[in-house]
Amino acid sequence: MSLRRVEVFAEGRRVGGMGVGCGGTAFPYPLSIEQDAVERLLGERLAAVGGEVRWSTEALAVRTRDERAEVDLRHPDGRVSTVRCAWAVGCEGAHSVVRKQLGIAFEGERRPDLQCVQLNAEADWKHPYHRDRSYFFLERGASLGVSPRPGGGYRFFCFTTDPDPALDGPPGLEEMRELVARAAHDPGVRLVPTDPPWANRARFQDRVAASLRSGRALLAGDSAHLWAPIGGHGLNTGLRGAHNLAWKLAAVLRGRAPQELLDTYDTEQRLTAHKVMREMRHNVLELPPTALTLRGMRLAGPRLMGSERFAERIRTMLSDLAMHHRESALSEGGAGDRLADPPVMVAGRRRRLHELLSYGRWTLLAAPGAPLDEDRLRAVTERHATPVAVVRPRLDPGMERRLPSAALVLVRPDRHIALSTDRLEELEAYMRRWFVLDS
Ligand SMILES: Cc1cc2nc3c(=O)[nH]c(=O)nc-3n(C[C@H](O)[C@H](O)[C@H](O)COP(=O)(O)OP(=O)(O)OC[C@H]3O[C@@H](n4cnc5c(N)ncnc54)[C@H](O)[C@@H]3O)c2cc1C
Repeated sequence: MSLRRVEVFAEGRRVGGMGVGCGGTAFPYPLSIEQDAVERLLGERLAAVGGEVRWSTEALAVRTRDERAEVDLRHPDGRVSTVRCAWAVGCEGAHSVVRKQLGIAFEGERRPDLQCVQLNAEADWKHPYHRDRSYFFLERGASLGVSPRPGGGYRFFCFTTDPDPALDGPPGLEEMRELVARAAHDPGVRLVPTDPPWANRARFQDRVAASLRSGRALLAGDSAHLWAPIGGHGLNTGLRGAHNLAWKLAAVLRGRAPQELLDTYDTEQRLTAHKVMREMRHNVLELPPTALTLRGMRLAGPRLMGSERFAERIRTMLSDLAMHHRESALSEGGAGDRLADPPVMVAGRRRRLHELLSYGRWTLLAAPGAPLDEDRLRAVTERHATPVAVVRPRLDPGMERRLPSAALVLVRPDRHIALSTDRLEELEAYMRRWFVLDS
């Protein structure tokens, strides 16, 4: 279910509201989706491509050799066996056995004096229900988010200073009701937990693994990085990382790219993780506010929330569309941004640019009319085992500024720009470095 708007209140007074939809993408709105639904969708996709989840099977140990990895498994019947595989990816969460066994440090620290309590519930209160609208209520030491959920009712999630670090277990109904009453300035609020009920209390660590690769083993998701999930960036960043890793792993496994390609996953994902963590440490909408923040919100909030620039910053932060890999060894000549997705004409048909891309190959955008030696271009792109599709999209007038103004723009399978150049020699040199010759 799509979320289109957020309304913000500080100390009981409405500060403003803003649309959260982003332009320039076929998927403009944040999606409210529960983790079990994400898990089901991933499981279905895995089954469709011939994979299988073996539930209740525990990884006990991992070893990496020159040519393979070995993982000791304990099966549901208690039997222990060893699987040998070309690569092992540890995505077993914060307490990752793979990370510990490889001796990779989990650098960072506990996040002191911060907790998040959550409850799924219907609410009888003074705020109208809209299935596409979230609320934020900022109060001294508590930031309450209220978001409509797919099964009905709301997810109430409240970041607060930690009243008692020894307090364990999910919050009770009265604890949540009191928090909502205080933050939303609605003393008469009634909450009715959803069926089945769901409530949770969490405290956090801010940590990034010192390396995401050790020989034949890699780390992804919470086993690689962890922070307070402010702004909904925990699972999202893990999935972006898996998306970054999967095509690289496939290319190396098929002998189409050198192993160094996997090191670019390490640098790109670790830089992304550090960036997300830095931004989330200063998120004024979700961190429990101090008296000073609240005063600032009351005085400057209405103007800020009405400002298109501020709204655009929030939308960009929420969507991650501006996340880039400019510092990566894979990005040359200032490249690394996610390719924009403007409407284009191809062979007389109107399409979105991203419809011409594919996760299974690279794409070379050749500017129509650019003076290119076509025979040489074909020879360069067909010399390697890596599939590269050459496309010549014609942009609508006024859209030119959304793409690099080069004759050749090479796009990675994950839609990030690898290289933009006017010179075929540069394209040739790039491919020589990262692609393996077709044998
Ligand atoms: C309170 C809270 C709210 C959050 N809200 C959001 C949000 O709104 N948006 C968002 O994007 N993210 C959110 N997150 C973060 C998100 O939940 C995590 O980033 C995400 O679940 C990480 O997924 P993962 O698959 O890497 O790890 P996990 O979800 O931890 O999954 C790891 C799996 O590996 C299994 N496992 C563990 N050890 C072994 C072993 N030795 N062998 C075999 N299997 C093993 C575990 O049983 C588990 O099934 C939130 C987190 C918290 C705590």
